[in-house]
Amino acid sequence: MSVKIWAASDDFAPRCLKMHEMGIAMQIVEMSIASIPEEMNNVQVEIINLKVGKLAAVIPGSLRFCFDIVAKDTPLSGAKLHIEEIPVVVKCNECNKESVIKELSFKCEACSSGSTEILSGRELDIESIEIADG
Ligand SMILES: [Zn+2]
Repeated sequence: MSVKIWAASDDFAPRCLKMHEMGIAMQIVEMSIASIPEEMNNVQVEIINLKVGKLAAVIPGSLRFCFDIVAKDTPLSGAKLHIEEIPVVVKCNECNKESVIKELSFKCEACSSGSTEILSGRELDIESIEIADG
């Protein structure tokens, strides 16, 4: 039986581990700007809806702080980040039950098996952006 720990989680992409909030903020700004249609070049983005898995290790306050700096002088300047935290969910390889992980282990809550598969918790997705009306 093996138990995985956060830092040792094997398939958690190294890319994610290196991502500080500043890097993430820059990505959010880039991706949001890229998703604004060209003909709407004068828009003011008001809200950016994000889904952030707990394993992405993002501190919302830090992300907002970095975002404000990066978004300056872009159509995203002054936009608010709505951050939805996605819990870490694992699926047990022994009993197939899904558990929401609250502690620093990836054990199945039903049978305590350490053989589990991570279903969610690593997301870092921009779900949508909301643009000022008129
Ligand atoms: Zn189980």
